[in-house]
Amino acid sequence: MARTKREHLRLEGTAAAPGIAIGKALTHRAERPAVSRRRVPTHRIEAEVLRFHAALASVSEDMRRTRQRVEHEHGADLALIFEAQLAMLDDMLMKDGTIERIRANNWVAERAFAETMAHLRQGFEKIDNEYLRARVGDLKDIEHQVLVQLAGGSLSGLQNARSNTVIFARDMLPSEAAQLGRRLVKGLVTDAGGTTSHTSIIARSLGLPTVVATERASHLVSTGDLVVVDGDTGTVHICPDAETVRYYRALLRRQVRRERELSQRTELPAVTTDGVHITLLANVDLPQEIEQAVASGARGVGMMRTEFLYLGYRLPSEAEQLDAYAHIVRAMAPHPVVIRTVDLGGDKLTHAVDSVAEANPFLGWRGIRICLDTPDLFRTQLRAILRAGVHGNARILLPMISGLDEVRRAKEAIHQVQQELEQQGIAHQKDCQVGVMIEVPSAAIMAEQLAQEVDFFSLGTNDLVQYTLAVDRGNARVADLYDPLHPAVLRLIRQVADAAAAAGIPASICGAMAADPVAAVILMGLGIRLLSVSSAQIPELKEVVLAANIATASEIACESLKMSSGVEVRARVQAVMKEVFLTARPPRPEEAP
Ligand code: PEP
Ligand code: MG
Repeated sequence: MARTKREHLRLEGTAAAPGIAIGKALTHRAERPAVSRRRVPTHRIEAEVLRFHAALASVSEDMRRTRQRVEHEHGADLALIFEAQLAMLDDMLMKDGTIERIRANNWVAERAFAETMAHLRQGFEKIDNEYLRARVGDLKDIEHQVLVQLAGGSLSGLQNARSNTVIFARDMLPSEAAQLGRRLVKGLVTDAGGTTSHTSIIARSLGLPTVVATERASHLVSTGDLVVVDGDTGTVHICPDAETVRYYRALLRRQVRRERELSQRTELPAVTTDGVHITLLANVDLPQEIEQAVASGARGVGMMRTEFLYLGYRLPSEAEQLDAYAHIVRAMAPHPVVIRTVDLGGDKLTHAVDSVAEANPFLGWRGIRICLDTPDLFRTQLRAILRAGVHGNARILLPMISGLDEVRRAKEAIHQVQQELEQQGIAHQKDCQVGVMIEVPSAAIMAEQLAQEVDFFSLGTNDLVQYTLAVDRGNARVADLYDPLHPAVLRLIRQVADAAAAAGIPASICGAMAADPVAAVILMGLGIRLLSVSSAQIPELKEVVLAANIATASEIACESLKMSSGVEVRARVQAVMKEVFLTARPPRPEEAP
């Protein structure tokens, strides 16, 4: 759609991480990164040569893995493409040409490499041989990969981020989102995605106001446009008019004031009006979040996702993991830290494990299935968790459990690791509790039996909703069918809460629905007493708990199990417990009478 340059565009998407961001747009596409024309001082030249070598090594390693995978899936013939590219990466003319240009002109590696590649391409294009001329495509591919690597990874364009940048992307991998720094990047807008996709989860952890499922925002915006992201309502403004900017600036000031007020209540216990204590815990996705978790008043870490350690090109060592876990366990002591064993697969891609492309990754090789099939990977992580436990109180959480057999096998692996550490005389936590994620419907249905095997349950409602309703959590097209308040989901949660209570073990919720005030009321009404959300959401959630009444919540929860839809459930909760959801936010300019 063509538009005049300064026209105010308002787009509606799905609110994925709360807050307001006002800034300049930066589009992130898989396009060739801009080549810096900077010069390096003479004493930095050899460092620049080393940087170039390191980039080549990384691209080669990645390509070798791709070649192996392609060979495995499609046979040796197709894998030859990568053979040719690997040979090009090792080409002396290319290497020497680049290094010579760095040294002779004091150029940065990017520029020297791009010039060399342009030169080589010209040579190829002149060759009177169709096959060789076709290799120009491979050269361009290599050039792109090396330039991306030199730019610091896969976030093309991000190196151009200035302060107050809002990233616009068609879609973003969780590994890319994890690289977004909060200092410069203030907001995120994607064309695709759902609120419980891992990219949205990471955005919430980073406190980045985010709107997803906008369908076309990244095409309508231009880098440099003034934009507003309203992560509370799911609205995005491109080149907003003066009135809209004024409104959002005022809202931003209010937001800062409110955060200050809420932060003064962190020590207050979360107790309902009828005296029921609710334990508020933090979900932690990256180690640097732990300080904020402690400051938010969390009474422990309800779920630490460990996938961040596995986003690179090799598996993390025991020492690296021990470092990360011990930091978190120590910071949260004496409160418990629930460390989830790695939940790779689904949309959490990794280069570290040799996996093959699957038709239905969310139903495929994921979570505990990968751990049980890759004993060394599992053992290393278990050792690190048990060793970290001596610094406070760690607990092990097993993801994607679908039946008893998996739990028993995992417990056996934990037992073996404990014995091994014992024999080696290595200090470790001896009384480490083991729990399971209840996020697959079969686990919810089998909760009674599972409760006999473990110390606690953690309900992963992001997946439980996806698998119960058969709605891909990251697919914008079916996002309106993804309803955590669907009575079918609520019935499963009730079943799990009852089974846990009967067995005398705790059941917490660590899915995104726990932070939705309406859902939180229903969950408390269903008997849940532990809620785990991202640290930034704890203060608001505490307000909800302080205003809620368990007797009323239980009545509505009971009624909701018999209702016909999530829409009906939401309307009922909102009508009966109005005072819990006093939203003081003024109407937006377009809503004003
Ligand atoms: C969940 O499924 O609710 C959950 C917390 O795990 P993840 O979002 O990492 O799949
Ligand atoms: Mg899950």
